[in-house]
Amino acid sequence: MATTFRASKKPRILIIGAGLMGLWPAVFLARKGAHVTVLEAARAPQGASWAAAGMLAPASEAGETDEAAGPMQAFGAYSLSLWHDWAKSFAAAGQDINWRPFGAILSAFDDAGLERLERTQRMAETLGLGPQRLNLAAAHRLEPALSAQVRGTLHIPGEASVDPRRVLAALQVMLAEAGGRVVVNHKVVAITQAQGGVRVRCANGTVFTTDRVLVAAGFLTGAIEGAGALAAYLQPVKGQMLALDVPQNPVRAVMRDAHAYIVPRGDGRIIIGATSEPGISDIATDETTIANLKANAVTVVPALMQARITDCWAGVRPKSVDGLPIIGHLWDDGRVLVHCGHHRNGVLLAPASAEIMADLILEKDPAPFAAAFSPARFSIC
Ligand SMILES: Cc1cc2nc3c(=O)[nH]c(=O)nc-3n(C[C@H](O)[C@H](O)[C@H](O)COP(=O)(O)OP(=O)(O)OC[C@H]3O[C@@H](n4cnc5c(N)ncnc54)[C@H](O)[C@@H]3O)c2cc1C
Repeated sequence: MATTFRASKKPRILIIGAGLMGLWPAVFLARKGAHVTVLEAARAPQGASWAAAGMLAPASEAGETDEAAGPMQAFGAYSLSLWHDWAKSFAAAGQDINWRPFGAILSAFDDAGLERLERTQRMAETLGLGPQRLNLAAAHRLEPALSAQVRGTLHIPGEASVDPRRVLAALQVMLAEAGGRVVVNHKVVAITQAQGGVRVRCANGTVFTTDRVLVAAGFLTGAIEGAGALAAYLQPVKGQMLALDVPQNPVRAVMRDAHAYIVPRGDGRIIIGATSEPGISDIATDETTIANLKANAVTVVPALMQARITDCWAGVRPKSVDGLPIIGHLWDDGRVLVHCGHHRNGVLLAPASAEIMADLILEKDPAPFAAAFSPARFSIC
């Protein structure tokens, strides 16, 4: 591994992808004095990070996936604790990210749902999120619009939500203030070795030479020459979403059951999600699917029946084959690193994941649990 990087006065770091996994480490590194450039293929960041609901839900989400419970959920709880500090930093910087630390209410309508609540409750207890089973009267005191048909309710006061689009915008402002830049319309096609550094070539012919490269191109990370070894370990998982216009917001917490989640933004909109379509990487939406998602949400909060759908969209989650994020060195010489594979929890995990990434790039020892997320587990570096 190169040894001169940390000593370099203003190391050049090129980051591929202006989603959360690119921008968050970019801010860290620019604030540490690095010369940071983020290359983004699109006209503006519009990947999974832009599409996301923004739930910060290490326990609620645990019931949704086959991800290995151990490192992932503890990592999520740690990242949620960092979010509380970051929420203050965003506010102090004058950035409104729609921070809503108002918890989550999970509902069950059948036996399978009740079992799921029990599992989630145990997980939330382990993570210290203060879960409480509520009877209907208690649940209605918190959320009067909750369906009277629920058979069980779990309150997780420790969970929260943000608006990821606002977070992306805020990170770009913070990056610019720290001296970094985002260059849009630059799709990277290849990363190759160069004398004393790394060369990055874009589809438009532009070539950059840099000291370190961080590949954070979401589910497309493995499509770039030089990071192609990852292609076999990453899978796209499409998610469709919709927004409802709600002049008077009927809910305060994130509300969910096994079939839908409802995320109030507090700005006249409610976000409802989401499908999980493994192997699909287009971002088309389907009218019937969107109508079904809304119907599922209406089961939980009947008052949403009248609300108008104002928007629908889709994003593609980057999922690794084992469901864990991929954070670490990709090339043996330490010059190319990767930050992707956060699947359903990238918004939640972004602060903790960026912390590991920045430590690795700055050649500091990362937190011990970072080893579980290293690309070395796939024997590709
Ligand atoms: C519908 C949906 C709902 C979600 N809800 C939540 C949630 O509530 N909570 C949560 O924690 N997580 C959620 N997620 C997951 C989360 O959004 C992702 O895990 C996370 O945003 C991934 O971030 P990323 O930076 O790796 O990828 P992306 O955000 O996709 O960013 C990758 C960027 O790289 C760019 N790029 C790609 N190829 C190239 C190239 N060759 N050159 C240059 N740039 C390139 C892309 O244009 C894109 O801007 C959701 C995801 C979806 C799709």
